[in-house]
Parts: sequence; structure tokens; C-alpha cells
Amino acid sequence: MIVMSDTIERIKCLIIGSGPAGYTAAIYAARADLKPVVYTGMEPGGQLTTTTEVDNFPGYPEGVDGPTMMVHLQQQAERFGTEVRIGMVTAVEFSNEVGGIHKVTVDNNKPIEAETVIISTGASAKYLGLPSEQRLRGGGVSACAVCDGFFYKGQEVAIVGGGDTAAEEATYLAKLCTKVTMLVRGGQMRASKAMQHRVNSTPNIEVHYHTEVDEVLGDQVVEGLRMVNRQTGEKEEIAITGLFIAIGHKPNTDIFKGQIDMDEVGYILTHGKSTKTNKHGVFACGDAQDKEYRQAVTAAGTGCMAALDAERYLASID
Ligand code: NDP
Repeated sequence: MIVMSDTIERIKCLIIGSGPAGYTAAIYAARADLKPVVYTGMEPGGQLTTTTEVDNFPGYPEGVDGPTMMVHLQQQAERFGTEVRIGMVTAVEFSNEVGGIHKVTVDNNKPIEAETVIISTGASAKYLGLPSEQRLRGGGVSACAVCDGFFYKGQEVAIVGGGDTAAEEATYLAKLCTKVTMLVRGGQMRASKAMQHRVNSTPNIEVHYHTEVDEVLGDQVVEGLRMVNRQTGEKEEIAITGLFIAIGHKPNTDIFKGQIDMDEVGYILTHGKSTKTNKHGVFACGDAQDKEYRQAVTAAGTGCMAALDAERYLASID
């Protein structure tokens, strides 16, 4: 529900979310004098703040830890006049008109009006929810093989999931690791036939069907895994140093449901190669609209696009 008030703040460019997409949008929007305001959301800095080393973002030859990189991005956005506010957008009512004003509520009580809105709320990796898995997150349990696989070079790891992400990440890990054990909970993979073929023709990937994680073993770091066969109930322990969870992501777009066009999972649909949504003046970037690439650098790229799209939109209605 949108809360009304007598003195409602009007913002030219409101950015919802503070990951690489949001901050890159802010850098561009601030330099274009759109006076952007970023609302950080519940996890200021986004998913990268839960990552240790980031080695694949261009411009950091020695690598950088995720939280530091997000502080850098925030500082760069602020240097050009972005206002970063801690707060959660809790409701939206987007206009259907060209040049219409979008109504947004922050923290359930603060109404705001915005001429343009850039949605960069990201996505969250799904986890199994086992206590041992949660305890060892950052200690060998990861939801991103491309981010963390390198640290397991020459070691034995396991991956959970049977979709395209799991298949792709298993083959990625197989190039780095001596052995990859893949746990698929059903009798077959959901991944495309081509991806399944790649998995099955990689000699150091061992697929276990009808198999789930019973417990992740290790005190401070992952030392092994106890698997359970769902059909027979049989349990087996293997020694591994890394466990990758690849059971899907959930875009953080629930508050936009009914307002913005999205696919059945909740990824926001954008028009053609732009970041335009079905609402005039509302743009989406980063993982909230990308289930394919999901990298910090691709999120940053679409953040830049969203700011340029917002700037052009404002110029066109002036
Ligand atoms: P998906 O939802 O496609 O697959 C999730 C997988 O995880 C399924 O095998 C599912 O099993 C399994 N799973 C879900 N929950 C659990 C659980 N609690 N325990 C064990 N296993 C579980 O997610 P993806 O991230 O793989 O893919 C998302 C989308 O992105 C898809 O449309 C995919 O095609 C696309 N994609 C495309 C790529 C490409 O084309 N190169 C690369 C990566 C993704 P079950 O099947 O039994 O439900």
C-alpha cells in the first residue's frame, strides 16, 4: 500500500538496490546530473559482500575482496553526488503514462515520487537450508563456481543440482579440480541435452542420481560430504574441500509483481537490447533481469545502460 503525505520528496532518478548494477547506474546518472538517490536494500553492496576474493572483475590485477569492491563502487558513485540511503523500498505504484510520476514507499512509511526508477535489486542464490551448509558458507560452501572455483584447483569438490547452471559449473570445475561429484536429486537432469552430454563426456565428473546432501562435514572448513540415496536410503561419505550449490536463484522482485512484466520465475523482462520495462521511465538492470550471465561485470554493464536509458527518457519528455 502506498502511504500518502503532504510533503512528498520528488527524485529525478531513484535507484533501488546497491550491487554493481545499482552503483554503476548511479555513477552514470550522477555524472549526467540526474541527482540519483540509491536505496541500498537489506544487503548493502549486494551479493558480492558475501564473496571473499573477486579475481575476475577487470581493473583489479591483484584481485579484490567483494566487500572492498562494493565500498569502492559506492565511493565512486558518491564522488559525483549520488546520495546513498540505507533503506528498503517496500511498495511501488508505477505510472502508466509517458512522463508520469512513479510512487514508491520506503521502509513502509516514507513516500517518495520519482521521475525515473532503476531497478537493480539483484537475485539471491538458493541454498539447501541444512544447518551444516549454512555454518560452512564462506568456509568451502559456495553458490558460485565461477567466483570461487579457482580456490579449489587440484582438489576434489562436489556440486548439487541438475539444471543448466549445475551442469555448466560442473564442467567449469572439472577443468580446475581433480574430481567433481555431482548430486542430482531426481532420476535425470533438468539441464539441456547438450549440457548433459558435456557432463557425461567429462571423465572427472561423477554423477549420482536420486542423491541429496545429508550433511556437510567439517568444523571450520568443508572436509567432506555425507550423501544419501533417496530411493534406497543408503548413505555414503566422500572427502571434498568444496561444495557448490547450484539449485537456482531467486530474483528479488516480489515487490514489483503486478506492476512490471516478468517471467514465471520473477526475472524482469526488458525490451530488446535496452533496459526498458513495460512502464515508461522504469528500467531494470543486473541480476533482477538476467538469469543467464549473472556476473558482477555484466551487472555493471547493464547498470550503465539503465542510466543512459533513463537519461535519454528524461531528455525525450523534456
Ligand atoms: P533450474 O531451476 O533450471 O534448476 C535447478 C536444479 O536444482 C534442478 O535440477 C533442481 O532439481 C535442483 N534443485 C532445486 N532445489 C533443490 C534442492 N533443494 N536440492 C537438490 N536439488 C535441487 O536452475 P538453473 O540455475 O540451473 O537455471 C536457471 C535458468 O537459467 C534455466 O532456465 C536455465 O536453462 C538457464 N541457464 C542457462 C544457461 C545456458 O544456457 N548456458 C546457463 C545457466 C542457466 P529438479 O530438476 O529435481 O527440480
